[in-house]
Amino acid sequence: MSGCEVPISVERQKRHVVVVGSGLAGLTCAHSLLEKGLDVTILTPGYVGRDGATQRVRALAPWILLNAPCQRGDSPDRFFEDLQRAGQGMGRPGLAEVFAAEAPRAAKELVELLDLQPLDEGAVLLPGNSHPRGRRFLPRGRGLLLQRLVGAVHSTARVYERALAVGLELSPGRVLGVWAWHRPQGQLRLHRGEAVVLACGGVGALFGPSTVPRWCRGSGLALAFLARALLHNPHITQALPVLAIPPVYFPTTAALLKSRIWLGESLLPQLPDLETLSTQLAQALRHGKKAWLELDASDQSLLPRWIRETPPRTDGHRLPLTLAVHHGVGGVAIDTWGRTSVPGLYGCGETAGGVQGARRLMGTGLLEARVFGLRAAQAICKDLQKGNLSPAGEPCSHILPLPAFPSHLEAFLDRSLAALAVVRPPEEVAQCLEELDAWPTTPQGANAKAWLTAIRRAAAHTLLSAELSAFARKGEEVPRELAG
Ligand SMILES: Cc1cc2nc3c(=O)[nH]c(=O)nc-3n(C[C@H](O)[C@H](O)[C@H](O)COP(=O)(O)OP(=O)(O)OC[C@H]3O[C@@H](n4cnc5c(N)ncnc54)[C@H](O)[C@@H]3O)c2cc1C
Repeated sequence: MSGCEVPISVERQKRHVVVVGSGLAGLTCAHSLLEKGLDVTILTPGYVGRDGATQRVRALAPWILLNAPCQRGDSPDRFFEDLQRAGQGMGRPGLAEVFAAEAPRAAKELVELLDLQPLDEGAVLLPGNSHPRGRRFLPRGRGLLLQRLVGAVHSTARVYERALAVGLELSPGRVLGVWAWHRPQGQLRLHRGEAVVLACGGVGALFGPSTVPRWCRGSGLALAFLARALLHNPHITQALPVLAIPPVYFPTTAALLKSRIWLGESLLPQLPDLETLSTQLAQALRHGKKAWLELDASDQSLLPRWIRETPPRTDGHRLPLTLAVHHGVGGVAIDTWGRTSVPGLYGCGETAGGVQGARRLMGTGLLEARVFGLRAAQAICKDLQKGNLSPAGEPCSHILPLPAFPSHLEAFLDRSLAALAVVRPPEEVAQCLEELDAWPTTPQGANAKAWLTAIRRAAAHTLLSAELSAFARKGEEVPRELAG
C-alpha cells in the first residue's frame, strides 16, 4: 500500500460503496475498500473477474506487457515526459504525473497479484518510450488472471453476478446508488451506496469487432451521461489490426510491422508504426478491400501455435486481417483521486479518461486500473470521513431508456460503427447521431439483450456527439443541422 494511505476506523458505522464492474480496477478498488472496513457491493454482468478486458489479456495477447520505469537510468520523470509527448497536451492535469510516479510500485504489485513470470531478463523499448521499460510476462496459472483478487473479495463483499448496471439513483448534486438488471430474476433492483465507483471498462465492444468482451460497450459513458458527469475526450479510442478469424488475435506489433501487408492486390510499403498501419487499413476496409498479412517462414514463430499448426484456409501463407477497437483512451473525467465531477461518483481503470491524451502508450492499461483503483478507494474513505459527501436531497431514479426493436438497432450500430472504428468523417457521424436520436424507445420488453442495446445506444450517442464537438473545435466542417 502507498505511503499516503488514509488512517481510518469505520467499524462503528459501516459505510457502503457500490462498485460497478469486476475487472482489475473494480476488484482492486473493492478489495482496498474492504480492507479499510467499508461494506462493498460488486455488480458484474457475467462472472466475477472473468467478464472484463482484464481476463481477455491472457486469452488474446501473446504476453502481458507492463510499462513502468524499472531500470537504472530511468525514472518516473522520464516516463512522465514520454506520457506527455504521446498525449500531446490532451490529458487531464496531474493524472499522467501521478500515474508515472505510482506505476513502478503498481507493476511490482501486479507481478505478485496476477502471479506473473517474466519472459525476458531485461526490459524492451516500446514505441513512444525514450527508455527500455516494457517488461513482458506470462501468467503462471492457467485459469483466472484475477484469481487472487477474486479470492480476497469473495467472502467479504456482496457480489452480484449477472447484474448489469443500467441506471443511477441521484439527488441534486450527488449519487445515491445504482440500478441493475438482475439477469437470473429478470428484475431491476436498486443498490444504494454512499459512493458509487464506475469501473465498468472501456468502449471497445461498442464498435462491433473488438478485442474486449461484449459487456465492455461504454457503460461508463452511458452512466456518466445520466449523472451529467464531465467527460474527457470520450471519442479518443485505439484500434488494432487483428486476425479476422475468431477469436480476433492480436499478432503483436513486431509481427505486424515485419510482415507484408496486402490491401486487395497491392502491397503496402513498410510502415513506421501501428497507428499509421491502422489508419491505412481502416481506409482500405471502408472501401471494401480485403486485407492480408503475410509472414516469412523465419518469422512464423511470432504467431501463436494454434495458427502456425492449423493455418486458416487462406491464399497461400496469407492471413486475413481486420481492425478491432481495443481501448477507450478518453472516458469519464476524473481528478487525480478518481473523483468525477459528481459528488459520490468515482471512476477508475479504462472507464476513466485523461491519464493519456491523444495517444496511449502500450502496456499501461493494467497499471492504470491498479493505480487509480487504489486511489479511488483512498478518496472514498477520505471523503466519507470528512463528510464531503453532503446529505442527499430528494432521490430520483435515472434509468437508460429502452430502445424499441433492439435487434434492429444492434444491426444498425454494427454496420455504422464498424465503419467508424478509426476514420470518422463528420457527415457519417452526424447521420448516425440523427438515426440514434430518432430511434423510438419503449417501456416494454425489458430483458438483458434490450438493456445491453440501451447501454450501446447511450454510449454511442455520447461518444459520437463528443466526436462532432471535437471537429467543431478544430474548425472542421460540421453538417449545418448539428453545428453548435
Ligand atoms: C487482448 C488484450 C490485451 C491487452 N494487453 C495488455 C497488456 O499486455 N498490458 C496492459 O497493461 N494492458 C493490456 N490490455 C488492456 C487492459 O487489459 C485493460 O486496460 C484493463 O484490463 C482494464 O481494466 P478495467 O478493470 O478498467 O476494465 P475491465 O477489465 O474491462 O473490467 C470492466 C468490468 O466492468 C464490467 N461491466 C461493463 N459494463 C457493466 C455494467 N453495465 N454493469 C456492471 N458491470 C459492467 C465488465 O463486465 C467487467 O467486469 C489488454 C487488453 C486486451 C483486450
